[in-house]
Amino acid sequence: MRVISTFDMAKMIKKANLPSKPCLYCGLDFAWRKKWAKVWDEVRYCSERCKREAKAASRKG
Ligand SMILES: [Zn+2]
Repeated sequence: MRVISTFDMAKMIKKANLPSKPCLYCGLDFAWRKKWAKVWDEVRYCSERCKREAKAASRKG
C-alpha cells in the first residue's frame, strides 16, 4: 500500500523544483513559499512591500 502524505510531497519538492512567477510590481521572479500553499494563484507580489507599493502606485493614477 502506497500513500503519499503531504510530508512526502514536501520532501519531493526540492527547492529548484518550486514553482515561481514574476512579481507584478518589481518584476523579479519569486519562488513558492509554504505560507502561500493555499493562495499561490492569488499571490502577485514577491513581498508585502511590493504589494503595498503597488497599491500606493495604483491609488495615484
Ligand atoms: Zn516584488
